[in-house]
Amino acid sequence: MTQGPAVHPGQRVHLAKEIDRIGHMLVNRWERPLAAHLLSLVSRLEAQLRAADVSDFLNEIHTLARLLQGWLQQAEGLLPSERERYGQLRHLLGVVSQVGMMQRSADPDAETAAPAGAAHPAALAKLYLWLPEGLEADALSRQLACFGFDVRIVRQAAGLAQEIQRAQPAAVVVYSDFSEHDPVLGLAQVLNHDSPLIFTSPRRDFATRLQAVRAGASGFLDWPLQAYQLVDLLSFGDLGERREPLRILIVEDMQSLAELYSRVLSEQGVEALSETRPEQVPALIEQFKPDLILMDMYMPQCNGMELAKIIRQQRLLDGIPIVFLSVEKRQAVQLDALTLGIDGFLTKPVEPEELIVTVINRARRYRKLRSYIVNDSLTGLLNHSHLHGELESALQRARRDGKPLSLAMLDLDHFKTINDSYGHQAGDDVLVNLARFLKERLRRGDLIGRYGGEEFAIALIDTSAEQAWRIMDKLRQDFSLVEQHAADALFQQTFSAGICASGDADDAATLIRQADEALYRAKALGRNRVERADAPTTTPPPAEGGV
Ligand code: GH3
Ligand code: MG
Ligand code: MG
Ligand code: MG
Repeated sequence: MTQGPAVHPGQRVHLAKEIDRIGHMLVNRWERPLAAHLLSLVSRLEAQLRAADVSDFLNEIHTLARLLQGWLQQAEGLLPSERERYGQLRHLLGVVSQVGMMQRSADPDAETAAPAGAAHPAALAKLYLWLPEGLEADALSRQLACFGFDVRIVRQAAGLAQEIQRAQPAAVVVYSDFSEHDPVLGLAQVLNHDSPLIFTSPRRDFATRLQAVRAGASGFLDWPLQAYQLVDLLSFGDLGERREPLRILIVEDMQSLAELYSRVLSEQGVEALSETRPEQVPALIEQFKPDLILMDMYMPQCNGMELAKIIRQQRLLDGIPIVFLSVEKRQAVQLDALTLGIDGFLTKPVEPEELIVTVINRARRYRKLRSYIVNDSLTGLLNHSHLHGELESALQRARRDGKPLSLAMLDLDHFKTINDSYGHQAGDDVLVNLARFLKERLRRGDLIGRYGGEEFAIALIDTSAEQAWRIMDKLRQDFSLVEQHAADALFQQTFSAGICASGDADDAATLIRQADEALYRAKALGRNRVERADAPTTTPPPAEGGV
């Protein structure tokens, strides 16, 4: 085959749609000229993909071309029935037309836009803070360090641009007075898309904020900057999604198609996981906790509708959005699916933009809705009942995988006196601060819940009691350094914790009870300490420090 000239992706999309349209006409009605036309379209697509140096799906395209060639050489009477034709064509048409629509060429321009969520997790803890000479931020750096951030203070705008190109930090925080010649205002141009730019300024008027937006800011915070404000900014909205990407589970029996969808979504910073075997799906949902399921309608073992019903039978998963992907163009069938509680219907081949918008918006809405149901409203941590549910399944998984799990019960020390001295609002703020702190410092897979008033429970996955003790003790030390703000006072707050590992308890209730007993012992031994259920300390209680 000769190499055609390079084509615009738009032309390829058009070609893909034509292949899909003619292909489905051919399924319904065999006509030799139509088949010949389809063959020429498929050959053209093949040539275009070769010219663009795309080699991933040439096999499928070639098979489709050969199938059509074979049929064209058959005598009329010997042609397969409509049903057989449909079966053979459907799969190939699905892949080929989808490839045409989604395949990126090896065009160097396409490679420069790195996926939004691709930064290495370790890098996500790095913060660059640009400050002019004379502005100090040691205290701020120390506070951010307690929350787990690695802060680099930079004084030279030129050096900053270079460093950021290398490191892809969680964010670049830039001080500006927004004077006309502030060199830092030109910084947005040299930052790549992976480093959100956050401005901080003593000015807060509308014109200043507008200038920040125009300079490419993802956020704006008042100077002097408080650590918790920055932590919040990085945890919610777009920036939060960057650090905890939306999760999409793709169920599609054709591996090649699943990979295409997954690639398109990953480029938007979404975490996509694909599965070709429907029977694996319920377990995967529990483990991966997707924000949406993108599901093929036709699969050999069981169809999408049946799988959707199985998922809907499990109460906890009741609300999870399911979007069907199918070659089905008949409206009646689509409407049937919608009445069944399916959240959307995309027709294959789907254009990348349509896939992205449909999936991301629904996933985002569900994540928010779900957070109202499972999270405690003050702290955003798991609420009591969902903590129990999640702990039970985490325990089952740990047992099945033969891995340890440790539970820590944590209780604030002398918290009543905080309320009494600084007021209930200051007490609430401490609870929120502890939640922020725990969320930043623990891993995504760990469970963190508000067990009751000022008592928290943490399940550390794949962690022995000894490891858990070290983790919790470091958290204890660091949290005691976090500044707590009351209306006109700064103070510090400590906690005590008790730990029990899964080997020492069979079920969630026993685990909680034993961790609670260890916590009680930590309190009795003087507070601001961590005790293990399996290794009671016999050291005498230390002299108690004031709060
Ligand atoms: P200990 O070190 O023994 O745990 O002392 P403590 O004062 O923390 O313990 P105690 O159980 O006597 O008091 C717990 C306090 O926590 C009482 C209650 O006012 C406060 N508390 C519980 N929930 C909340 C809440 O949501 N907000 C605020 N501000 N305070 C709360
Ligand atoms: Mg299928
Ligand atoms: Mg307490
Ligand atoms: Mg308590």
